[in-house]
Amino acid sequence: MDGVTSDNPPGTADPAALRPLLPSPLVEVADPRFARRGLRLLLKRDDLIHPDLPGNKWRKLEPNLRAAAASGTRSLLTFGGAYSNHLRATAAAGRLLGFETTGVVRGEELAARPLNPSLARCAADGMRLRFVDRATYRRKTDPEVLAAVAPPGAFVIPEGGSNAAAARGCEALGRELRDVADVVGVACGTGGTLAGLAAGLGRGQRAIGFPVLKGGFLEEEVLRLQREAFGGRRGDWMLDERFHGGGYAKRTPGLDAFADDFEERHGLPLERLYVAKMLYGLTTLAEEGAFTPGTSVVAVITGTAR
Ligand SMILES: *Cc1c(COP(=O)(O)O)cnc(C)c1O
Repeated sequence: MDGVTSDNPPGTADPAALRPLLPSPLVEVADPRFARRGLRLLLKRDDLIHPDLPGNKWRKLEPNLRAAAASGTRSLLTFGGAYSNHLRATAAAGRLLGFETTGVVRGEELAARPLNPSLARCAADGMRLRFVDRATYRRKTDPEVLAAVAPPGAFVIPEGGSNAAAARGCEALGRELRDVADVVGVACGTGGTLAGLAAGLGRGQRAIGFPVLKGGFLEEEVLRLQREAFGGRRGDWMLDERFHGGGYAKRTPGLDAFADDFEERHGLPLERLYVAKMLYGLTTLAEEGAFTPGTSVVAVITGTAR
């Protein structure tokens, strides 16, 4: 149970007690594919913010944990797939801060199997797991479905942790990058991180989101989150839909080769579901000549390889 010290006793409910490493470190790496074109590559190490709530999961959960505590509840409910980083971060937050947590998991059949390592971690952190079939999962926010799975008074955090509060939490990521970046790349699942990041950037800076899911629905979703969080479209951002590799958790030989090589060059194990796809995208854009010489390219390392 690392992370629990006498300074942050379980039950404080105050995320500040977890002493996140903020602002997260920014480190330049020498990569010939960028240097050759007169570009700098910097890594924004959000993966180092907290060992149990890494990356954008910290930035998105923190305001939600505050809102939950302020509303007087110590019970959280959220949703995810069998390998959801968000479920794991929520379970860890519950253990560290004294929230009771319930995770609604997509896939009824999973209940009959041994838990995978990700769900086992959730359970070990005290999360109550409720497995539902895919049809029910699609209707997960309907009042009657919620009533069946949620403990009374539970604070509901959406799938992937993305809501207006989460997007506002990610605005700080953009602000931390003012004056140091021209272009910022980030991997996208629900788009909450991109929505906030872009809003926090300054004039002349732009963000590129790399969706890891196939579908082309994300533009509308990022806009919706920006409207809810900030009242309208904010910042200069776009999506590059070419690097999902076939869909969530799908891989291609090209992506695997890129990630293995990047790890070896830079001595940094890559989270493969999101971070590797984003870096593959940024590197491809650099090699395509998409950035003018002199550009500082920042890659947001949103999570940890496990
Ligand atoms: C959850 C997650 C994302 C996606 O963030 P969204 O805000 O849902 O777009 C990106 N990278 C990592 C490592 C994640 O765990």
